[in-house]
Amino acid sequence: MSERLLIKAGTVLSMDAGLGVLSPGEVLIEDGLIAAVGADLGVTDAEVIDAPDSIVMPGFVDTHRHTWQAPLRLIASDWTLGHYLAGIHSGFSKHFRPEDTYAGNLLGTLEALDSGITTMLDWSHNLATPAHADAAIEGLKDSGARAIFAHGSGAQQWSNLPSTVPHSDDVKRLREQYFSSEDQLVTLAMALRGPQFATKETTLLDYRLAREVGTRITVHVGDGEWGKSRPIEWLRDNDLLGDDVTYVHCNTLGDDELAMIADSGGTASVAADVELQMGHGWPATGRLLDAGVRPSLSIDVCSSNGGDMFGAMRSTIASQRGRDNGQAEEEGISLVEELRLSCRDVVEFATVEGARACGIGDKAGSLTPGKQGDVILIDTDTLSLTPMNNPWGAIVYAAHPGNVDTVVVAGKVVKRDGKLVGVDVDRVKRLAVETRDYLLEQAASDEGIADAALGGDWMPGQVRA
Ligand SMILES: [Zn+2]
Repeated sequence: MSERLLIKAGTVLSMDAGLGVLSPGEVLIEDGLIAAVGADLGVTDAEVIDAPDSIVMPGFVDTHRHTWQAPLRLIASDWTLGHYLAGIHSGFSKHFRPEDTYAGNLLGTLEALDSGITTMLDWSHNLATPAHADAAIEGLKDSGARAIFAHGSGAQQWSNLPSTVPHSDDVKRLREQYFSSEDQLVTLAMALRGPQFATKETTLLDYRLAREVGTRITVHVGDGEWGKSRPIEWLRDNDLLGDDVTYVHCNTLGDDELAMIADSGGTASVAADVELQMGHGWPATGRLLDAGVRPSLSIDVCSSNGGDMFGAMRSTIASQRGRDNGQAEEEGISLVEELRLSCRDVVEFATVEGARACGIGDKAGSLTPGKQGDVILIDTDTLSLTPMNNPWGAIVYAAHPGNVDTVVVAGKVVKRDGKLVGVDVDRVKRLAVETRDYLLEQAASDEGIADAALGGDWMPGQVRA
C-alpha cells in the first residue's frame, strides 16, 4: 500500500506557475512525491495534517553555506572581512578534527531543517584530510535533510593565494564511495576556488577535474576587491562558463560579466548578510535581474549571521530597496513610482531559484506534481501573523523559524508541532559545545588567535584581503 499524506492548509503557495496560490488548498504527497495540489482533492484514505491557519509551501533552498563553521556561531558578528580571515581562516580552521566537522555539519544542517530549509548546499572548504570529508558527509546524511555536499578541498588549497595547489582528487573517491547515484538525499558538487583564488593554470585543472568527476560547480566571484579582476571574462575566454555553474556573490562583477553569466545559463547566489557586513559590495540582486539572472539566496557563514532563510530574505529585500531608493534620492527623485523587487520575487529566489541553482529544479523548489515531497507549513495563528492578509509579506517581513510548524522531506515528516522528529537535539547541542570548547582550548596555544574569547568583544588581528 502506498503512503499518502494530505496537507489541508489556509493558503498553499505552490510556487508553480500553473498552479499558483490556493486559498484554501490541499497538497497530497504519495510515496514521497507531490501527487496533487488542488482546492479540494476529495482524498479520504490518507494521513491528514489539517492546518487551516497555515501557509504551506515548498521548503527553502540555501545554495551556499560553509556549514562547518556552525559551532563558532556568531563569534564574528562584529568582524570585518580582515578579522574573519584572521580569526576563522588562518585561525580556527586548522584545529578542526573530523569529529568537529561532523558536529558542525550536523548542527548546521539540523538548524537549517528546523527553520524550513529542506535543501542546503554545504560549501565544504575545510577538508584537511579524507576523514574530514567522510565526517562532513556523515553529518549531512544524519540530519535527514536534502543536501548537496560541495567538495571544496582544505587549507592546503586555500593558503598562499592565488594557489598553485590543485583541487584535492579525493573527490574521485567520494564520488565512488558515496555518490554513485543522483537519486539520493545527499548528492555531490564541487566548490572550486576559481580564477580569484587559484592561478589560471590551477583553475583550468580544477574545472577539468570537476567535469571529469561529472558534478556541478559552485565558485565565489565578485566579492569585494578580489572580484574586480574580471573573473567571469577570463572564464568565458577559456570556455569555462556553463549552465552547470553557480556564481556566489557577484557584487563587484561588471554588468557585462553578469550578462555573460546570463548568456551561459549560469545561476547566482546572493548572500546579503555577509556581503553587507564584510564589504563585498552591494548585493547584486537588482543588477543580476537587469542582466536576466534570477538569483538564489544563501546563508554563507553562521559564524557571522543567523542560519535561517527568513533573515536572508529580509536582508536581500532591504538592501535592494535601500539601494534603489538611495539612488533615486541622489537623482533628485523624491518618490519612486514603484518598488521593483517584490516579496513574491524574494520567495521565488528562496525556493524555485534555489533548486535550479542546485541542479535539482526537477525535484524541488515548487509543489509541482511529480517533484519530491519537500514541504513546509508555517503556522499563522500567532499574534505576529494574524490576520493573514498577505502571505508573501508575512514570509519575507514577519515570519521566523519559530513559526515553522511542520517540515517534510521526500514525504517524510521531519518536524511536527514545532519540534524535530526523531532527533536527539541534546546530543547535537552537546557535540557542538564540545567542539566549541575544544577549539577555544587549541586557540590558547595558537599565536594568531591566542587571545580568542567569547562574549563578543574579541577582535582577531586583521589580515589583509
Ligand atoms: Zn562563501
